[in-house]
Amino acid sequence: MSGFVRANVAAMAGYVPGEQPKEGEAVKLNTNENPYRATEKAYDAIRAVADRGLSRYPNAVAQPFREVAAALYGVEPDWIMCGNGSDDVLTVLTRSFVGENELLRLPYPSYILYKSLAEIQGARSEEVRFDADWRLPEYFAQAPATEPNAPWRVNPLENVAADSLKLVYLPNPNSPSGTVLSVAEIEKIADSLSCPLVVDEAYADFAGFNCVELVKRKTNVAISRTMSKSYALAGLRFGFLIARPELIEQTLKVKDSYNCDGLSIAAATAALQDQDWLAETTKKIVATRERQTKRMRELGFVVPDSSANFTWNVWPDASVSHKELYEYLKRNGYLVRYMNYAGWGDGLRISVGTDEQTDACLALVERFLNGDR
Ligand SMILES: *Cc1c(COP(=O)(O)O)cnc(C)c1O
Repeated sequence: MSGFVRANVAAMAGYVPGEQPKEGEAVKLNTNENPYRATEKAYDAIRAVADRGLSRYPNAVAQPFREVAAALYGVEPDWIMCGNGSDDVLTVLTRSFVGENELLRLPYPSYILYKSLAEIQGARSEEVRFDADWRLPEYFAQAPATEPNAPWRVNPLENVAADSLKLVYLPNPNSPSGTVLSVAEIEKIADSLSCPLVVDEAYADFAGFNCVELVKRKTNVAISRTMSKSYALAGLRFGFLIARPELIEQTLKVKDSYNCDGLSIAAATAALQDQDWLAETTKKIVATRERQTKRMRELGFVVPDSSANFTWNVWPDASVSHKELYEYLKRNGYLVRYMNYAGWGDGLRISVGTDEQTDACLALVERFLNGDR
């Protein structure tokens, strides 16, 4: 019966998430999870909901969370849409804005899921290359070129209409690089685009700045956020969108009616209310990130300044194989992410762990470089 599957689904490879080893099998530095335990208030909230019972449907728009988030970011609750993880938010956005054969733009290399979402939708994606310093060319903010081999475009695209661009994704900080564009740079991009710009701020809590002000000032900027990374709740699945009410209203029609469950809504709300926990935890992670960056550079890697909870590590020549180092670390119980981007190159994305985990990983990297292979 697989012949009945839509052609665009049959043709796609599917998004491959990072490995999830069995509990205790490896130290996970591969999917940018938080090494610390979430605020106890989140766990208390889950227990309280469980005690009250789960026989009723949850609030369809996660209103308690919207109210807390609105107060925190200085907007009204109708500026917030909640999702079952921010991946769900991105799915809803893609379905809301990009039709068949229309164009979704994303930078390259960045979060691979955006491209998969376009493929499911039967839409096309235009990947625009970062330069060697992880800056974007002016082309990123312009109408799509109609010639197939436009400069900076990763793959040729046939029959592109100048008005086919419907949505632009920009992760800031970016993954895998951890690098950022400034608010002023992003504002410039928004100003020259004629379609919505979604800034994926999955890692913004580690950056010390964000684009919330832009959402208030510009009609075409939206922000997606997740509780998975900075709030240490990846197992919960909760993310949200901050955007103007007229845009939120449309996305609410597209999302599943009960896309967030009662346990998640309660836990995410409690976690968002504990800003002291967030400040303390991100401070620790940022300090460890800075040590990790410094040490990897001393060992000889090229590491761009990271504003996230991971670093991107590239050996300057072919004398060290990233793949072999990845396998060596894995054999020794440390799982990092080996990334190989066609036409760009490969490298290791290493999440920031506890001080102990990160130090042990760095010591293993050093042993490998000293010939223990
Ligand atoms: C981890 C990540 C997400 C997804 O977060 P979830 O809320 O766990 O779905 C979204 N965007 C980027 C860039 C990420 O790295």
